[in-house]
Amino acid sequence: MRFDIVTIFPGYFESVFAQGIVRRAQAEGLVEIRLHDLREFTHDRHRTVDDRPFGGGEGMVLKPGPLAEALASLGVGPKTGGEGASEQGSEGAPEPEATERGNAGPSTPIASAISAQDDSRVGETRVILLSAQGRAFTQPVAREFAKLDRVVLICGRYEGVDERINELYCHMELSIGDYVLSGGEPAAAVVVDAVMRLVPGVLGNQASGEFESFGAADAEIDVDGVPRSQHGAGGLLDYPQYTRPAEFGGLRVPEPLLNGDHAQIRRWRREQQLKKTLKNRPELLERAALTAADRLLLESIRNTAS
Ligand code: SAH
Repeated sequence: MRFDIVTIFPGYFESVFAQGIVRRAQAEGLVEIRLHDLREFTHDRHRTVDDRPFGGGEGMVLKPGPLAEALASLGVGPKTGGEGASEQGSEGAPEPEATERGNAGPSTPIASAISAQDDSRVGETRVILLSAQGRAFTQPVAREFAKLDRVVLICGRYEGVDERINELYCHMELSIGDYVLSGGEPAAAVVVDAVMRLVPGVLGNQASGEFESFGAADAEIDVDGVPRSQHGAGGLLDYPQYTRPAEFGGLRVPEPLLNGDHAQIRRWRREQQLKKTLKNRPELLERAALTAADRLLLESIRNTAS
């Protein structure tokens, strides 16, 4: 899988992508990350990428010209035929629409999150504008991105990017959270990190991406109503982890983890997931895949809490 990042600060990413799993994924050829310096696509002596906003107001705006040229250099042309269709230049002509915009779209909210601004084809390029005004970047969106051949990430700066870039080229505006960054670079780093670790082969243990916090809601459940996996399945937060020493700061590792009874361990972990989700992110419970056993547990957690 390939990421193309368009930025005025390519140097920002040097250390970010030179560590840990993201470094290894590149070294093993599973993930390729290409940085594109927006200033390379300017033609004036000062290599100007920004200009004042029409209508006045604070700050500067990234000009559309250099961005369009940068995208063209990546084989990305404007979306053709108005909204929906997209042309990816030399990367292959788009097939006819499989999905009509705004109707009969992809059935899951997850899939529609990625394809909301266009058709729902995966397995190819998506152009993403990082923006505080974007749709929320979540684990389901990361999972959809991980199926693509290529993700192009446009990093805004200053007051943002001329809106016509969004309209002409972008499949999605994407926000990493409800706060304002000074540039899209940290957001791009977050997206690359979360997506690349879902690319097959990147994580040593194939299963682990699927079963941690925000894991697939349809993860396999066994007969006791306890997830088969050891990790947080079912759209819940992960359970707390402990390592040696067994006693630290006056706190002992919870007993069920020490006695080697795997059924008990799984049940304890599931209970912790429910507890933690209820405490920190109660809204996730509404969409989590809960078994009858989970609901009983939740009920008793709620009762003891109140
Ligand atoms: N005036 C804009 C903020 C611009 S911040 C607004 O109020 O919405 C400059 C750039 O930082 C943006 O163009 C975008 O690329 C990036 N950015 C800021 N916050 C972000 C967020 N939460 N998620 C993703 N990108 C963000």
